[in-house]
Amino acid sequence: MKNVHTHILGFPRIGARRELKTALEAFWRGDASAAALEQTGAALRARHWDLQAKAGLAFVTVGDFAFYDQVANHIQLFGCEPERFGFDGADSELVRYFAMARGERGCCGAHAGHALEMTKWFDTNYHYLVPEFSPETRFALACERLFAEVAQAQALGHAVKASLIGPLTFLWLGKEKAADFDRLDLLERLLPAYCAVLARLKALGVEWVQLDEPILGLDLPPRWRNAFEPAYWLLGQSGLKLMLATYFSPLEENLSLAARLPVAGLHIDGIRARHELASVADWLALPKVLSVGIIDGRNIWRTDLDRAISVLRPLLEKRGGALWLAPSCSLLHVPFSLEGEDGLEPETRSWLAFASEKLGELQTLQLALGGGDAEAALATSRAASASRAASAHVHNDAVAARVQALAPGADERSSPFATRVQRQQARFDLPAYPTTTIGSFPQTAAIRAARAAFKRGELDADDYAAAMHAEIGYAVARQEALGLDVLVHGEAERNDMVEYFGEQLAGFAFTRNGWVQSYGSRCVKPPVIVGDVARPQPMTVAWTAYAQSLTARPMKGMLTGPITILQWSFVRDDQPRSLTALQIALAIRDEVADLQAAGIGIIQIDEPALREGLPLRRALWSDYLAWATRAFRVTASVADDSTQVHTHMCYAQFNDILADIAALDADVITIETSRSDMELLDAFGNYRYPNQIGPGVYDIHSPAVPDTAAIVRLLEKAARVIPPAQLWVNPDCGLKTRAWPETEAALANMVAAARQMRLAA
Ligand code: GLN
Ligand code: ZN
Repeated sequence: MKNVHTHILGFPRIGARRELKTALEAFWRGDASAAALEQTGAALRARHWDLQAKAGLAFVTVGDFAFYDQVANHIQLFGCEPERFGFDGADSELVRYFAMARGERGCCGAHAGHALEMTKWFDTNYHYLVPEFSPETRFALACERLFAEVAQAQALGHAVKASLIGPLTFLWLGKEKAADFDRLDLLERLLPAYCAVLARLKALGVEWVQLDEPILGLDLPPRWRNAFEPAYWLLGQSGLKLMLATYFSPLEENLSLAARLPVAGLHIDGIRARHELASVADWLALPKVLSVGIIDGRNIWRTDLDRAISVLRPLLEKRGGALWLAPSCSLLHVPFSLEGEDGLEPETRSWLAFASEKLGELQTLQLALGGGDAEAALATSRAASASRAASAHVHNDAVAARVQALAPGADERSSPFATRVQRQQARFDLPAYPTTTIGSFPQTAAIRAARAAFKRGELDADDYAAAMHAEIGYAVARQEALGLDVLVHGEAERNDMVEYFGEQLAGFAFTRNGWVQSYGSRCVKPPVIVGDVARPQPMTVAWTAYAQSLTARPMKGMLTGPITILQWSFVRDDQPRSLTALQIALAIRDEVADLQAAGIGIIQIDEPALREGLPLRRALWSDYLAWATRAFRVTASVADDSTQVHTHMCYAQFNDILADIAALDADVITIETSRSDMELLDAFGNYRYPNQIGPGVYDIHSPAVPDTAAIVRLLEKAARVIPPAQLWVNPDCGLKTRAWPETEAALANMVAAARQMRLAA
């Protein structure tokens, strides 16, 4: 007897046409009522459950919906909204929720009502709101929303599996707001609140509850590991069937712990922990349910169903014919559906499966394993796999040959930095504390309108070029007037730093509607790397050369680096990420060579995503860093000694990867430091970072104009830890989200500060 069920861990909540985004923004603008927003939420849930039920899932999943973020939902559910907001009885639940998410209206900076911090959900591009914990934190069942949603699904006739973030992961995700305090100490107080929630779910007639504990895939301190057994023993008293969900990473040393926890089922990420499936199937006591995440919830490729079946059959055997099938993780991380994606080349489209199509794949697998006739669907899957394996859209022999032929030293500049710096100084003759910016200048409404008109075909290529030349001319004139030393063209022609390059590279595909939630109402539409990457022709040379023709000062060329392009795209699953990175690196290398040949002497290769590519497990870091830094160097090393290579990263956590940052061997690195008051420079200083550094001297996220004295103070601080000869002066990041008046005022003060530093030297 086969007993194969299907379920999902979560579904995209933004809606097929981003209805949630529209509704949220209307509500925030004051154009729609709270009731209207609630109605949109209810309608979206109903529609998404309906899709799940139609696909024959054993349950619909309830609890994955959120107006802003699922972690924020838990903060309200467990009544641990931070005291500092000073909420009183007068604030509605929704008002408090959005105050935590977006800050209290009219407040900013260190004010008590500033928004909760946001950070990445594990290694995804989704950002969650960070719970704040202190010794005073108390928990209680404080919000009815989850139960109302369960009741809504039941009223629609669905069997319900409720889903919650598990207590240990919830605490792990939070931040300690007091010294000498360990948030794990709150577990004892938190568990009764979980028990209360479980009791309510039981009273509603819910049978299964999914508890997500993805931290079981991390390097956990022993205290955290040890906390699992007693905690789950207590939760197990609820009388509910608990499905412990793990994902994103293999369990490794936590595998036996996860398998012996007193729960009714265990979900394993069958994509990232495929090699653990067999041992889990052995270790997990038989009455427990094994849920196999056999469909990739992190990527957009159609599943090779034959291969999936060959993985599942032996597991089914071991489990006495009982198995649950699911995507590896919540489908939150993939777009809604392929419907309407007729802009995609049809063959390419046939290789893809978004959230809705993944539901169909589950259905086929269930049918096939249950002995039903799934032949038609399997044949389609087979044809797609075969066409992808053989397609000329995927395989480009010239690219493969070039990667093959890459010499071991192809990632090294001709001379060491000490030599290069002299040639570059002789060429550019820059003053001490040279000033520059990070690349983009304000993206005005006029710029966006011109780009959109060009895309729609309403503006022809000549008129578009004229419009962009005018913008470049304006930016260059402003920079000269401000007295900046190294200029940029301003990036007016770029919508997005990855899309702009992807659109011009071979091997990329773009969807019309492939939106994925990044945070709140914000979505991103990552490009899809479909095949071998190559650069058919120069991408930035004409704009940059035009900009250089307008000025005698050095014009800095502006490129996005291979790791950032890789990280912010959906990547191929038929070759290692490292190989895709190398292909992109070679394509961008060609652009470096062409910029150089066109007389551009300074070239910046942005890598803001280098750090976020770090694997979840520490043991895998060195491998990643080795291929990632090599990809960067492959891109950069075509630069002659007298060509100055810059890189830029917009964050401040470098302490644990400084050696790898140094291994990039960029001549200049610009980083974010103003918000941390230059603290991070200590690390660079202690490390004796050999090349040049531009620590950001003001925060571009705010329209506030920094005064000269404040910038001088930061530079003096920087000069105490980094030899002044190595220092550059620049803002924290690009200026595209700012307006011109504040930009000019801030840069004028920045230039004045650099001049003061020179005089004092
Ligand atoms: N050159 C880019 C800009 O200035 C860099 C953006 C980034 O680092 N995210 O906009
Ligand atoms: Zn940046």
